[in-house]
Amino acid sequence: MLFNVSQLLKEPSGFTREYEVDEEVSGDSTVCPIRGRVRLMRTEDGIWVSAPLDAFTPGSCSRCLVDIRKMVRLEIEEEFLPEIDINTGARLHSPREFDENFYISRSNVLDLTEAVIQYIYLSTSMKTMCRPDCRGLCMKCGTDLNEGECKCDRTARDPRWGALLDMVSVQDKNNG
Ligand SMILES: [Zn+2]
Ligand SMILES: [Zn+2]
Repeated sequence: MLFNVSQLLKEPSGFTREYEVDEEVSGDSTVCPIRGRVRLMRTEDGIWVSAPLDAFTPGSCSRCLVDIRKMVRLEIEEEFLPEIDINTGARLHSPREFDENFYISRSNVLDLTEAVIQYIYLSTSMKTMCRPDCRGLCMKCGTDLNEGECKCDRTARDPRWGALLDMVSVQDKNNG
């Protein structure tokens, strides 16, 4: 999701440009269709991106693996800083690892991909189960336990143990 902003960087702050987007963003192992509007506004320091986007996120329940692909709304609000001054070519900002800012490359290309992926991650990482009480799959035979019991002895894998262990680790965190 690339925008050439060499013209926009020469405009006074407050100047805006709008784009319609309808493309795909590739993450680590997923492709996510993105649709919506991107508004770029020149600021004193860089370019402010306001982008209400619909993302069709791929995903599956972390317990039973059922498909939970869904449309999520991303409300991207980020300022991108240029690495070099468009007029003088002087170096302004140099991106560092683990930096919280986004940057416009030396060739004056603003790449929204990383921001989109971060927003998708934030909006989906908390909801990786199809429902809060999903019982998951039997570890032995693979039966979806939401749909019925199987004949396996799952004493050690009893979901209640999982819940208890979750509680213990939460308490650990609270105490620490
Ligand atoms: Zn599930
Ligand atoms: Zn089973």
